[in-house]
Amino acid sequence: MEEEFNICYKCSNNEAVQEEIIKMGQKIEHCDFCDNKNLFGLNQDTIDDIKPYLEAYVAYYYPQADWDGRYGTRNYLDTIYQEELFFSWKKIEQNDKYELLYYSIENNDFKTLILDDHWASPWALVNEEQHKLLNSLTSEDNFKNKLQAATELVNKAELMLKNKTVKISGYRSRIGCKEALGEYGRAVNVPYDKKDIGVAPKHAINSGRANRAFCGFLYLAEDINTSVLEVRAQKGDLVSIGEFHSKSPLRIFDLTDPNIWNFKQNYTTIKELQLISAINSLFSKPIGNGTNSIYLDTQLIVEEIIRKNYDGVCFRSSFTGKRNYTLFNSDLMDEQSGKGKLLKVDKMELTLTEYKDDIYDLF
Ligand SMILES: [Zn+2]
Repeated sequence: MEEEFNICYKCSNNEAVQEEIIKMGQKIEHCDFCDNKNLFGLNQDTIDDIKPYLEAYVAYYYPQADWDGRYGTRNYLDTIYQEELFFSWKKIEQNDKYELLYYSIENNDFKTLILDDHWASPWALVNEEQHKLLNSLTSEDNFKNKLQAATELVNKAELMLKNKTVKISGYRSRIGCKEALGEYGRAVNVPYDKKDIGVAPKHAINSGRANRAFCGFLYLAEDINTSVLEVRAQKGDLVSIGEFHSKSPLRIFDLTDPNIWNFKQNYTTIKELQLISAINSLFSKPIGNGTNSIYLDTQLIVEEIIRKNYDGVCFRSSFTGKRNYTLFNSDLMDEQSGKGKLLKVDKMELTLTEYKDDIYDLF
């Protein structure tokens, strides 16, 4: 008898894959990888149904070299292993059925993305219309054209996102601290809290990545490191940290997690998702001490998102790759009292590599 394997949805480390397995609705009696019984899962036949998503995921998130190995680098299956995509490969490596599962992902009976559309390097495909709109937004002097481009870009991007209403939590950093009375009447440094860690008073708000001057948005990061880096703290700084949780689920325009499942058909459609990466990089581009004009592009995008009745936008930090949130109304979030921290920046690491322009990086 041909060897078989069963793996339950809980053994995937990818939320979209888990959701799809549950949607497929096929139960397995016993998971070979975690010993759970009677859960939704995949076997050597049904795994074929999710392979187009796995391919699309790698094609979207990784450069060509990580896909086809033509430049003597990694190929598709190796990338999945090295990056622990979809399953925690290193954890299940000792399992008897490991190889069956691993190689089943490479064995394709169906037409693969790369054969389907591979008339030229798929990573060089550009969607001309999107490219033009992005150019109008970022380079146009005519304000009306710029504004219209922002509207169209947000309309297009919205179709590529998962419509998310979720509870979120995050950290906010503010350089500095305040003094409180300690033991024996001594002054001690304690973290800013309450209104001092929240949005600054209106008159003190400068133009920011997402907000106009005098307009208070709450900027949070999903982890403390990212939030400290985002406020440009330097070695030796004391930084106050506040933790915030949303009071109820919020509508988030999430640029970190496009709906790849809907774009998995072929390269041409996957390449459309480049728009999300491009908008995300407008937000995450580090801008030293930004001037008003540099922030204008992202402010226009944000205002379109607000008109669509979202509560916030989420983008990836250029410092850490983690999520940053901008909430349009800070009243939607609660500061967790007693969870504030005062941290000192001990060390900032710097890693340098030689820079070469990527000819495929067309946005
Ligand atoms: Zn399992």
